[in-house]
Amino acid sequence: MTEFGFETSAKHASENLFSHLTVENVGDYIQIKRNAKARFYRIKISQNAQVMLVIPYGGNIEAALDFVHKKADWIQGAVRQAKAQTPELKENSQLNFYLFTMTLVASDRSKVVSDRSGAHLELQVERELFLQTNRNKLHAMVLKISEAYLQLWGKELLIEQANQLASEKALKVEAFKVRSQSSLWGSCSATNTISLNIHLMRLDKKLRDYVICHELAHIVHKNHSRDFWRYLNQIFPGAKAADKILRRLNPKLLTGVTIS
Ligand SMILES: [Zn+2]
Repeated sequence: MTEFGFETSAKHASENLFSHLTVENVGDYIQIKRNAKARFYRIKISQNAQVMLVIPYGGNIEAALDFVHKKADWIQGAVRQAKAQTPELKENSQLNFYLFTMTLVASDRSKVVSDRSGAHLELQVERELFLQTNRNKLHAMVLKISEAYLQLWGKELLIEQANQLASEKALKVEAFKVRSQSSLWGSCSATNTISLNIHLMRLDKKLRDYVICHELAHIVHKNHSRDFWRYLNQIFPGAKAADKILRRLNPKLLTGVTIS
């Protein structure tokens, strides 16, 4: 059985009519995009588990569905994998960013409300944003707001933690810089300026310690040689295990944020 879905929102109805498909045993929400430049049918799975079917020039529904069915196993596997990495955002989800928690609430218009301590935010978003169609939009919004909040309240804490570790390990850093980066958690320049990703502030403190120590170790070894790892393991026992966990976390996704 295959079902077409269309927008419930009047605002986008004209452009998004027949915007997605539900294909039994494959996926309940497959976005459809026609692309005149595409030469083949293609399935794309976004990092937040959104499935998209690209239909090439001259493509037809029968061939498109045939393609989806043929790729069913692959689609399901890829979706499962993506879902395991990104939390699914729903109405009343509570997200734990360590420095603060955030509850998602449906409302008539979007705004952020903080409690007195600042440790809890309520993100009020327009009801529509909880529709599956808007999954990407909601993710982007949560990411943007949490990032801004971390920049405001987390930056100094991160630098403080980094300075403390540097002095504990007796390593001389030129400067610590805090930025928002899309793929790197941290880096160390040739002149020993260490950049740290603000998104570190939503990770467990131990993982943050690890990233800081990793970059500090680059002051001694400017590479990832055996000597580097040996040294890093001295200043941060269990370095390889922490590195493995970190590799699965993506700064630009909400990976690592737990939801209740
Ligand atoms: Zn490194």
